[in-house]
Amino acid sequence: MSATTLKTRIGEPDIECRYPVIIGENRVIGHAYRWHRDWLVVTSEGEHNLRRPPKGTKGIDMAAAYLAEEYAAGRVAAVALDLLLAEAPQPLNGPVPLLHPRMPASDRNRAGAKTAFAGLAEQRWRPVLHGFPGSDNPWYLLCELCGWSGVRYWSHHRGRNGNPPSAHRHDGGCIGEDRVRALIPAYRK
Ligand SMILES: [Zn+2]
Repeated sequence: MSATTLKTRIGEPDIECRYPVIIGENRVIGHAYRWHRDWLVVTSEGEHNLRRPPKGTKGIDMAAAYLAEEYAAGRVAAVALDLLLAEAPQPLNGPVPLLHPRMPASDRNRAGAKTAFAGLAEQRWRPVLHGFPGSDNPWYLLCELCGWSGVRYWSHHRGRNGNPPSAHRHDGGCIGEDRVRALIPAYRK
């Protein structure tokens, strides 16, 4: 089978927002994820940065095409999706470090992280997997109001143009927008 005919599909992202690229009967040929503007793939051979997709191409499509080619050429191995799900990263119970492991510990990043942690504490969100990944990278957070957890972006939590952040905290309703505003001053005008 040539690379051009190998059909791939994209599975559900894990809690680090890494998308499995799947062929056939739930065989994963690699994971794709975005880090700032770059797209990276993780395969049986390790990690590879594909950089930014060309204009008009989605990063995930670029990554899937790359993985299909690598697999067709015999350069990466496929792994059963079930096996990967069993080994998927799990949230920590204790505190997380200030910075995501991929974030360089520069003064600027540390300051940004402290601002984000303070803002999250005020809004009753808790990071339970990694430290600050940057404003526009996925961050796995726990909602302290209802126990929901999922991927959020700090840039969405800051509020815009002097407006408070959305009281619609996440899908699933949380505790209701009125109660959110009543409990947490940051959500009021
Ligand atoms: Zn909630």
